[in-house]
Amino acid sequence: MNLRYKTYRLSLKHPFTIAQHSRSYTPIVLAELEHQGVTGYGEASLPPYLAEDTESVIAFLRKIEPDKLNIDNLHKSIRYIDSVDAYNTAAKACLDIALHDLWGKIHHQACYRMFQSNPEKMPPTSITIGMDSEEVLIQKVKEAEAFSILKIKLGSERDKEIIESIRKVSDKPLYIDANQGWTDLSKTLDFIHWLKEQKVVLIEQPFFKNDLDKTARLKEKSPLPLFADESCQRLHDINLLKDVFDGINIKLMKSSGMYEAHQMIERARALNMQVMIGCMTETSCAISAAAALAPLCDYCDLDGPWLVQNNPFNNLTLHEGKIVLKDTFGLGL
Ligand code: MG
Repeated sequence: MNLRYKTYRLSLKHPFTIAQHSRSYTPIVLAELEHQGVTGYGEASLPPYLAEDTESVIAFLRKIEPDKLNIDNLHKSIRYIDSVDAYNTAAKACLDIALHDLWGKIHHQACYRMFQSNPEKMPPTSITIGMDSEEVLIQKVKEAEAFSILKIKLGSERDKEIIESIRKVSDKPLYIDANQGWTDLSKTLDFIHWLKEQKVVLIEQPFFKNDLDKTARLKEKSPLPLFADESCQRLHDINLLKDVFDGINIKLMKSSGMYEAHQMIERARALNMQVMIGCMTETSCAISAAAALAPLCDYCDLDGPWLVQNNPFNNLTLHEGKIVLKDTFGLGL
């Protein structure tokens, strides 16, 4: 098997602002795994709040011995990738995605079929609206016309104002992502009651990722379900979260790829937790991989390719706000 990779800069259509920072592009690494003349594509997305960057991903990929990747034994190949070094979940996801794409192409199967994922159960995807002035917020809401749900970034002094601005131009259901930006338990509870009246459906990561006791107390009284994002990275995190959150947000760059993301969906289901599948700023490559698993989830937040201006792959198709899964081999890129 041959492994090739290169770095690439994904430019955002609008500078992206959340509770902690603002940025105008995201560095990514694109990889190709080639076997018997067939190529599988993978991607690592590296927003600045992750512990990885392009150098650490390339250092990880240099340690990989491609001959130890066996297309007829995905389980063993994924175990090998995970054993090469600790952490590096985006680098691992890059290889995992390329392996699944390659597997599908060689075995003439769409990736979503590998996971018994039913395209008819695809949830609509939300599109993220970062923090901005009212004028830009309204502009972004107008640009999001093809989407039936908006995901709003909160966690600043202007939270109420932001929702009021959105509500001037849209009555679509809203998901809220506080990105750990809230601190006070009773103020947060009052605010969530107000958000419920504003047709908000769920709240993601209200408090700092390690504030599990405070989050558990919020969950007891919250009128809206709470989802873990920063608090939930990989499979082993989920057991700790079952009395703290109502659901988890799984992202391939955190989970180390599709293989473990699928295990996380199954574990969350066994614990009676809800599941969202989300993304970083990603091209159609990593988004197609996540979309293959999305019909197994309750909520879908896979807006990456619609937020960037230089997606190197063909964009995905939306139908009635839902990503269309193509019945082609592999990821269908
Ligand atoms: Mg989030």
